[in-house]
Amino acid sequence: MPVPLAPYPTPPAPAANGAQSQLVCSGCRNLLLYPVGATSVYCAVCNAVTAVPPPGTEMAQLVCGGCHTLLMYIRGATSVQCSCCHTVNLALEANQVAHVNCGNCRMLLMYQYGARSVKCAVCNFVTSVGASGSTNEQKFST
Ligand SMILES: [Zn+2]
Ligand SMILES: [Zn+2]
Ligand SMILES: [Zn+2]
Repeated sequence: MPVPLAPYPTPPAPAANGAQSQLVCSGCRNLLLYPVGATSVYCAVCNAVTAVPPPGTEMAQLVCGGCHTLLMYIRGATSVQCSCCHTVNLALEANQVAHVNCGNCRMLLMYQYGARSVKCAVCNFVTSVGASGSTNEQKFST
């Protein structure tokens, strides 16, 4: 009588073992962690099920008009609700945020796309942007 092999069912191999990604809960706006490859995430806080955006989805950022918290959203979304003050912000390209290091004190500065220069809040040095962009800057096309 043959001995059965594999006493335990073999789980399907995940795309990237142990890799995790994160998204914002559609219900309570908490940041949720989920394993890469999952198609939806169950929130333990509010019990909402949030669909996972397809891989390769570009995330964008904007600053909340109400409380100036940095918000993340899926690029292409038309509005983003702030998790802090519940202000609904229109997600226009003009509101998107980029980063540059201060040319004087190297402080990381945020500025809105389209700006030509950023004034450092620490040393008041004005850093021009656009000319010296980093190579891994997100695609920007209008
Ligand atoms: Zn939730
Ligand atoms: Zn806010
Ligand atoms: Zn500075």
